[in-house]
Amino acid sequence: MDFKYDEKAEALRKQIREFVKENLPQDKERGMFSEEHDDDEWAFSMNMSKKLSEIGWLTMSWPKAYGGMDASVWERCILGEEAGYWGIPGLGMGVSGTAWVGPSMMLFGTEEQKKKYLPLIASGDPDGVWCTGYSEPDAGSDMASLQTRAERVGDEYIINGQKVWTSAAHRSRWCWMACRTDPDAKRKHDGLSVIIVDMKSEGVTIRPIPNIIGAHYFNEIFFKDVRVPAENLVGKENNGWNQLMQALAFERGIALGASSRGMRLLDELVQYTKETGDFKRSEIRQKLADLAVDIRALRILALEAAWKASKGEMVIYEPSRDKAYNDEVMEKMGIIGTEIIGAYAQVDPMCVSKKWKRILGMIEGNYWGAAGMAIAAGTTDTMRNIIAQFGLGLPRGY
Ligand SMILES: Cc1cc2nc3c(=O)[nH]c(=O)nc-3n(C[C@H](O)[C@H](O)[C@H](O)COP(=O)(O)OP(=O)(O)OC[C@H]3O[C@@H](n4cnc5c(N)ncnc54)[C@H](O)[C@@H]3O)c2cc1C
Repeated sequence: MDFKYDEKAEALRKQIREFVKENLPQDKERGMFSEEHDDDEWAFSMNMSKKLSEIGWLTMSWPKAYGGMDASVWERCILGEEAGYWGIPGLGMGVSGTAWVGPSMMLFGTEEQKKKYLPLIASGDPDGVWCTGYSEPDAGSDMASLQTRAERVGDEYIINGQKVWTSAAHRSRWCWMACRTDPDAKRKHDGLSVIIVDMKSEGVTIRPIPNIIGAHYFNEIFFKDVRVPAENLVGKENNGWNQLMQALAFERGIALGASSRGMRLLDELVQYTKETGDFKRSEIRQKLADLAVDIRALRILALEAAWKASKGEMVIYEPSRDKAYNDEVMEKMGIIGTEIIGAYAQVDPMCVSKKWKRILGMIEGNYWGAAGMAIAAGTTDTMRNIIAQFGLGLPRGY
């Protein structure tokens, strides 16, 4: 395996760093969930999406015809690394137009859908912002049990049901939604479809669910006789399960950005302990060294998955492997960071007051965010089940 970035990729890294210098003050706090919660933060993030779109970086790996730059896997990796390290906001277009809605649509969507929705995402426009509607009150890890019904009536689907934990629904124009289209299918996995829902449709009600620190990040969404044109079906009716598994594999491929985010946190912690003198304590040195090993290992795993993808190989269980590992590393970073900065990590998790903030609010972000990130996109247990089945070839355990 050769992980060396080529000259073109390294030149891109330089350009991104210049962009960061000009556009992203590095004294800005990096608390978690603030974008979706706070109107000003959201506006800042959308403004950044627009700038990234104008350069072409927002969707750089997409084909030019849909607003991309045809960038290589390695160029995309550089952007992921730099975005993670410098905390560049606005790359998602909601949760997440760029990372899985667009790529899945390219695989399964009709030409009309690609022409309509992909350039909207690539433009960084508020009308290109998406949320993802999978989870329901009785369907989380067992997603195939979802009950939200989409009934075909003439040239429309009529949707009734409820979604829950829908991140950024209150900021989104569209929902990438999993529905039950065949309630009589023998296997529950076989009756599902992916349907695009306009969040402005009549019959859609969004209610906030405050998260562990009181931020408005999640929502529940109620659908009452929502009429959706049949052309909003993505791929084949009742083939949703396969499409959803692909979309989730895209969603779980976050480890490279996460490892550089970890690297930044580590750099900041090391600097902090130098300033406070804490670096003299051997238990602190050990813990920081331990973190450094984990973060580098995570990066190598993520690069291996990218390397396989760059050769056109299928990446099947690797995103789950990397996400499971990241879930643990992130928790560890939050705990070690909290041990180092102490109560500062606890008193103001939303980083409202500058008074309590240390290290740009990054420890608070990790401490309070790690538990949720280990559940989002599938729990760590679910990731381990996938590794067991597809990585180790073990039979399903349930
Ligand atoms: C930050 C965050 C953002 C989210 N954003 C979205 C979103 O935008 N859209 C969306 O649709 N959903 C979203 N979710 C919901 C998320 O996908 C679900 O919470 C997740 O899939 C788990 O489902 P559950 O909460 O119903 O827990 P359950 O599935 O009930 O799991 C409970 C516990 O049982 C374990 N468990 C369950 N089944 C098994 C098994 N077969 N083997 C071993 N252990 C098992 C789990 O690991 C977990 O510990 C988000 C969640 C979080 C925390």
